[in-house]
Amino acid sequence: MDRSPKLSMENIQTEDILTPLTAQTGRLRLSSIRKSYGAVKALRGVSLDIEAGEFVALLGPSGCGKTTLLGAIAGFVDIDDGAVEIDGNPLPKNTPAYERNLGVVFQHYALFPHMTVRRNISFPLEIRGVSPRAMEVLVAKALEMVDLGELQERFPAELSGGQQQRVALARALVYSPPILLLDEPLGALDRRLRDAMQAELMDLHRRLGKTFVYVTHDQDEALAMADRVVVMRNGIIEQQGAPLYLYHNPCNEFVAKFVGECNVLVGHWEQRGKSWVLVEPRTGLILHQNFGTAQPSLASSVAIRPEWIHVGDAGSADPFASGALRCKITQMRFHGSDTLVNVHSELGDLLVRIPHRMRSSIDLSQSAQSISWNPTESVVLAG
Ligand code: ATP
Repeated sequence: MDRSPKLSMENIQTEDILTPLTAQTGRLRLSSIRKSYGAVKALRGVSLDIEAGEFVALLGPSGCGKTTLLGAIAGFVDIDDGAVEIDGNPLPKNTPAYERNLGVVFQHYALFPHMTVRRNISFPLEIRGVSPRAMEVLVAKALEMVDLGELQERFPAELSGGQQQRVALARALVYSPPILLLDEPLGALDRRLRDAMQAELMDLHRRLGKTFVYVTHDQDEALAMADRVVVMRNGIIEQQGAPLYLYHNPCNEFVAKFVGECNVLVGHWEQRGKSWVLVEPRTGLILHQNFGTAQPSLASSVAIRPEWIHVGDAGSADPFASGALRCKITQMRFHGSDTLVNVHSELGDLLVRIPHRMRSSIDLSQSAQSISWNPTESVVLAG
């Protein structure tokens, strides 16, 4: 009689089975990576250090080079210049993808069409020599993770696009690689499943401690999921930092507008008493209050987030109030927890976010309103 303990999800951990397969810790260093496609400079010298276990999101508009950078790490893209290091070891140029031992989920990653879902997912384990018993548990776990248990005997052609993407995700996760590269992996999923998978991925990341490099053009997804967001544009990194830091300290207009919504206004510096203020020339409103005594940089535009704007007159008792700006409501969009209000003013179109708890104190039936903000909250943008 077989007295060996029954293998089940409860009594076996992915890490227990796969630790011997992956001695790497998942530290990644990219140095001056360059890649051109003919005249198109997809990557123009990208350097980035990623700690083992970090969750980094590469965020940027279409065509900024996110996928090319991920491909350079994965080994799908032959770089023109620069180096990729894993755990301090430079990868010889053109090291094939399979020798890098990285998990990859690309947006249009092809599944093996002649294999069932189950075989697709077990394939990476088969080529790594995992025993059939351990393989059974790991594949079941991966199937459960992406909610595909009932479809395991189907072939990829019998699945929807979203389901195929989930198989690709399960296949990349099943052998627990130290680094997982994900290119818009949730892009094909519907909203409910996408939210659920975001939570699953974050939970998985926390539990396994693997390095995640996650490409997305969805700022909400990047801010919600990542430890660090790397904002790219035109083949370079514009700014990087923790989501909260980036949101409150965007370095320029591009980052301010790409990481969340933002109003950008321009003024000129004036010294008032011991501090400097940035004044909007047409209205005399104070855009920014700087408590430093040194002359500020030449930069003269500020970012004001929609939720930093108050509807109603500025308190006249507050010496640092911006002053009130007359405006007209042009559109309101109710989002449940808040309402986004488009207003037109002498300074152009602005966006205001009113939290639900504030709505009862504001009469939004009147289209004429005045708005104000705290000038110490606004952020001066570089050049
Ligand atoms: P998306 O979010 O649309 O996927 P991306 O940020 O991932 O965009 P990349 O796919 O890396 O951007 O492309 C960067 C630039 O390189 C783009 O201008 C793109 O047109 C170009 N490019 C990418 N792959 C190739 C290729 N195989 N041949 C020619 N040009 C390419």
